[in-house]
Amino acid sequence: MRDFTARNPRTGVHDWRGKALDPPEVGDVAARLRDGQATWEARGAISRLEVLRAFGQALRRHAEPIGAALETDTGRRRIARLEIDSVVGSIEGWARVIAADAPPAWVQGRGLPSVRHITAWKAYPLVGVISPWNFPLLLGMIDAVPALLAGCAVLMKPSEVTPRFVAPVIAALAEVPDLAAVFAVVTGDGITGQAVIDAADCVCFTGSVATGRKVAVQAAGRLIPAFLELGGKDPLIVLQGADLEAATDAALRGSVLSTGQACQSIERIYVARSIHDAFLARLVQKAEATRLNWPDIAFGEIGPIIFDRQADILATQIADARDKGARVLTGGEIETHGGGRWLRPTVLTGVTPDMLVMRDETFGPILPVVAFDTLDEAVLMANDGEYGLSGAVFAASLDEAETIGRRLLAGAISLNDAALTAIFFEAAKQGFKSSGLGPSRMGEDGYRRFLRRQALIANTAPPVPLGAFSEEGLT
Ligand code: NAD
Repeated sequence: MRDFTARNPRTGVHDWRGKALDPPEVGDVAARLRDGQATWEARGAISRLEVLRAFGQALRRHAEPIGAALETDTGRRRIARLEIDSVVGSIEGWARVIAADAPPAWVQGRGLPSVRHITAWKAYPLVGVISPWNFPLLLGMIDAVPALLAGCAVLMKPSEVTPRFVAPVIAALAEVPDLAAVFAVVTGDGITGQAVIDAADCVCFTGSVATGRKVAVQAAGRLIPAFLELGGKDPLIVLQGADLEAATDAALRGSVLSTGQACQSIERIYVARSIHDAFLARLVQKAEATRLNWPDIAFGEIGPIIFDRQADILATQIADARDKGARVLTGGEIETHGGGRWLRPTVLTGVTPDMLVMRDETFGPILPVVAFDTLDEAVLMANDGEYGLSGAVFAASLDEAETIGRRLLAGAISLNDAALTAIFFEAAKQGFKSSGLGPSRMGEDGYRRFLRRQALIANTAPPVPLGAFSEEGLT
C-alpha cells in the first residue's frame, strides 16, 4: 500500500491521509469477492433486492458521516445529500425493472422443429467500477447497484481526489454482511484502477477520455468488456421564438450547477442571431445574480472547484479565449477564498472554434455564446468536435426542438430544457463519438448489460448421426 492525501477544496489543505491499494492487495480483495459471487447469483434477483434494500437503510443510518465526508471533499452540501438520496432511491428504480422482468420461456425452433431453446442470464462474476471525483458516491454506485442486483460481485474504486466517503460507506456495508461478501470499495489511484481492471471480468469506467482510452486498451488486452462513460462538450441551441426567460434559466442551470463539474454540463451555446443580444443580456444578468457558497457553505449556488488542477485548466481556457479575441462579459477570474479556488459563472462572447474553450472539455462554469444565422449552421457547429455525450435544444415548440434534436450527434438531447440526464435516469442513451463506449447505463439496459446470455438448446428428436453429413452421394 502507498500513502496518499486528499485536499479540502474549501481550504486548499491536504488534511486527509489514506492508503492506495497495490495490485496484490486488489487481487486479494477480488479473490474474496469471487468466492462469494456464486452464492450471491444463485439466490435470485428478488432476494438480492432485499439485501440491497437493507444496504439502502444502512446508508440512511450512516447518512451523516457519509454526507459530511462528501461535503468536505466537494465543498458543497446540498448535492452531497442528494447523492445519498439518489443512490438509495435508485434501488427502488431497479426494483421496478426487475419486477417487470418476465421469466425466460422455452421457444420452439423455426428451422428445426424438434429443437427448442431457452435463455439463461449469467452474471459477469466480478465487475470493476472506477469512478471520478465530481459526484464521488453517485458515479460509482450508479454502476455498482445494478451490477450487484444482476448477481455480479463488485469491486469499486472511487477517485483518489475525493476518497473520504469510502470509510463511512464501508461502515454501512459492514451492517449488511451478505452484501459485504460480494461488494468492496477500495481507495487508490490509477495504479489501483489498473489492478481492478486486471482482476475483473467486466469494467465500468466513468472519467476522462484520456484515461478512458487507456482503460479500453487494457480491457481489450484481457478481452473483457469496458463500459465507458467519458467527457462531453455539450451544446445548447436556442432557436428564434424560444422563451428567453426559460432558455436562459436552463442554460445557466445546465452550465453552472455543480460549478460546471458535471459531464453533461452545457459548455457551448448557439443562439439565433435575432435573439442573441437579448439572450446574452439576460444570461449575464442571471449569471451575476449567483453567489459563491463562501464563507458559509449553506449559502449560494456556486461551490469551489474541487480539483486544484481543474482550476488551472479553467484559467488556461479563459486566457486562451481572451488572447484570441473573446470578451468576458462577467466572471472570468479564478478567485481564492480561504485557500479554496472559485470561479463565478463566466459568460464569453466573440468566441471562435479554434479556442480551447470551444474544443476541449471545460468542466467548469463557463458559458461561451455564439450567434447563428441558419439552422443548418447551428447543427453543424453543435456537431463539431470529438465529443457526443449530450446536448439540448430550446425552441418555440417541442416539435421544433425535437426536429433539430434528432439531427444532433449525441447520446441524449434535452428538449426545451438542458442537462436533463443529470436528474432523469430512465431513458436509455449511449455516448457518441469519444464520449463513451458500450451499452446504456440508463434504462433497462443498465441492468441487462451485466448479464451474459447463455442458450440452452434441447433436441426432442434423436441426435442427427454423423453419417447425415457424409460427403458420399453428392455429385
Ligand atoms: P480521470 O479519468 O482522471 O479519473 C477517473 C478515475 O480513473 C479515477 O478513479 C482514477 O484514479 C482512475 N484512473 C486513472 N488512471 C487510470 C488507469 N490507467 N486505469 C484505470 N483507472 C485509472 O477523470 P476525473 O478527472 O476523475 O473525472 C472527470 C472526468 O470524468 C471528466 O472528463 C468528466 O466529463 C468525466 N465524467 C463522465 C461522466 C459520464 O457519465 N459520461 C460522468 C462524470 C464525469
